[in-house]
Amino acid sequence: MFSEQIILHSDLNNFYASVECLKNPDLRDKFVAVCGSQEDRRGIVLAKNQRAKMMGVKTGEPIWQAKQKCPDLITVPPNFDEYIKYGRIVREIYYRYTDLVEPFGMDECWLDVTGSTGLFGDGSQIAHKIKEHVKRETGLTVSVGVSFSKIFAKLGSDIKKPDAVTCIAKDSFKELVWPLPASNLMGVGSATAARLKKYNIKTIGDLANTDPKNLKVWFGINGVTLWRCANGFDNSGVAPFGYKSPIKSIGHGTTCVKDLVNADEVWKVILELTQDISRRLRENKLLAGGVCIAVKDNTFHYKEYQHKIDVPTHSTMEIAKEAFGLFQKSYRWKNCVRAVTVRTINLVSENMPHQISMLSDETKREKIEKLETAMEEIRERFGKKAITYACLLEDLKMSKAKDEEIIIPRAM
Ligand SMILES: [Mg+2]
Repeated sequence: MFSEQIILHSDLNNFYASVECLKNPDLRDKFVAVCGSQEDRRGIVLAKNQRAKMMGVKTGEPIWQAKQKCPDLITVPPNFDEYIKYGRIVREIYYRYTDLVEPFGMDECWLDVTGSTGLFGDGSQIAHKIKEHVKRETGLTVSVGVSFSKIFAKLGSDIKKPDAVTCIAKDSFKELVWPLPASNLMGVGSATAARLKKYNIKTIGDLANTDPKNLKVWFGINGVTLWRCANGFDNSGVAPFGYKSPIKSIGHGTTCVKDLVNADEVWKVILELTQDISRRLRENKLLAGGVCIAVKDNTFHYKEYQHKIDVPTHSTMEIAKEAFGLFQKSYRWKNCVRAVTVRTINLVSENMPHQISMLSDETKREKIEKLETAMEEIRERFGKKAITYACLLEDLKMSKAKDEEIIIPRAM
């Protein structure tokens, strides 16, 4: 028997800020923003509570700007361990209704409840039950979208929030969805939205009613995918329990406390950042097949460079050297450097067979590997400061505060 799938997308509202307000009730009736740093020069808003949102505070904006809009704004540092804990508790609630739960970032999940309706009621009833359970058991609120496709379920969870359920049904989705701006559709970023506008495609309906042949010419295969999504033809499934989405890149960046004035200073920062990247590559049993660096100078000009690494590696020294070589080759010293990000890309599994380079010295590589593995073990047992490279002992112009070591999880 053919039956359409029933998908829920559940999104925790103002997640980080809500957790902070749960832990510290004094914050509840205040204007609160979780920020990457408490220092106005470096800090950006990672999340805000409903009250701060009403004052126009936006995620991603600098603290000083947020405080102009909302002078009484209280900024608090993030506690990612807490967010991970709460995210897990909420997912446990979802699992009571289905084992098809696919997380998207820390605060969002898709749930396929097609097979659960006999036990728990229709999609809308399940959504309401979940919403009430989450509120009662954790104190957090969610907004839930209910629909026949993942894309529309996600769209639904954005339509009404916080603490709300929105259903987008197959026989009436056009009235609800098509008047919305194309940028509301998942997959349409600001660059795509701007290009769509050039072809006079402003709404999701405009997109749905454009000839997919034209979209293919303008946007390649992605254009056709967007057209399918806008028409409700997207029938991708919710990944089952335990599925791990493949990691596309691992990176780490910092805004320095003082500008970096020469290549030597940049090298040290790159090496320091790469130590963390190397650790995370090892944890995930991955090797980097490429490296990408992003450099912001003190006039806020931002540039990204990337290149391939011939022999995939997780070695700190090898990746740092590749990143620094790339920096030396690409960066024109007109201004001092304010911020550096190193990102490893083209990741491959450690277990995947890969070619050994004829040019590299394998014995030397093995030695470095042993040394780094030993260093990593020491750092793991005794802390990051227990052992490091001698050149990193001087002032790196990097913040020592713990809340600077922020790795914003993907897809948020
Ligand atoms: Mg959210």
